[in-house]
Amino acid sequence: MAGERFGALARQVAAGDVVVLSGAGLSTESGIPDYRGPSGAARRHTPMTYQVFTRDPVARRRYWARSHLGWRMIARATPNGGHRAVADLQRRGLLAGVITQNVDGLHQAGGARSVIELHGNLDRVVCLDCGARSGRAELDARLRAANPDFAARATAVNPDGDVDLPDTEIDRFRTVGCAGCGGMLKPDVVFFGESVPPPRVAQCFDLVERAGLLLVLGSSLTVMSGRRFVIRAAKRDIPVAIINQGPTRGDDHATYTVDAPLGAALTTLLARLDPPAPPPPVPVDHGAVVGGSSPDAALAATTIP
Ligand SMILES: [Zn+2]
Repeated sequence: MAGERFGALARQVAAGDVVVLSGAGLSTESGIPDYRGPSGAARRHTPMTYQVFTRDPVARRRYWARSHLGWRMIARATPNGGHRAVADLQRRGLLAGVITQNVDGLHQAGGARSVIELHGNLDRVVCLDCGARSGRAELDARLRAANPDFAARATAVNPDGDVDLPDTEIDRFRTVGCAGCGGMLKPDVVFFGESVPPPRVAQCFDLVERAGLLLVLGSSLTVMSGRRFVIRAAKRDIPVAIINQGPTRGDDHATYTVDAPLGAALTTLLARLDPPAPPPPVPVDHGAVVGGSSPDAALAATTIP
């Protein structure tokens, strides 16, 4: 039964004009934990806010020291089956757009194009004084030069490229200013407490309003930054599908909800779009146990209102 319902979602995707809205849950299988996911690995972590970052020099130094290590871990992360599936859908011409709340660049690394990075990308840095944007690798080289003896090692990273680090390491970390004007540098990402630039939001609303389906991948839709697109789609009677591990704050607006790991769910979805040749008939074994840990078993938990 769940399979039939998943088939309905596959047919909706096959009809095209799909707009993908992805969140941290899509990158957990690449080793980047979700703030709010079921693993709860990062629950103890308080994300930096724009207000604290710009007003508190000590907090800013702490951020850069931790991010100096965390960014390298994110830069080393590789796309997973979920990212590749999105790129595959795009190559099939089924996507009208990809909007991501993630700042890790893994959609593009997985082959997707024209991705709207709602919250920016850790790969870039912006000067809050002169507005100049530069590459994070360039900043990384300058920070390494300013901190030749910085030997701290991080073991876990958070979605915004932050890591846990002892205060003793943070105290001796030296930050650098803008190479052009000496001004305050900030990663080119939208911090908590900061607004997404209005033209970017307008571009996303425009995409969503013309969508045949809004497909949410790995977002609990906790913050309005992403949830507003689900609300807008529902208001326009555009079907919404949500694939996520655990419930989301958009479930009430969803036509389809799939509670399953993203990589497995999307791999199954792709298989439904392009069914392989049927296997040769085999004798039916009524004693066989079907399910276990296969993607279809995970999708048996599918709930579709
Ligand atoms: Zn500057």
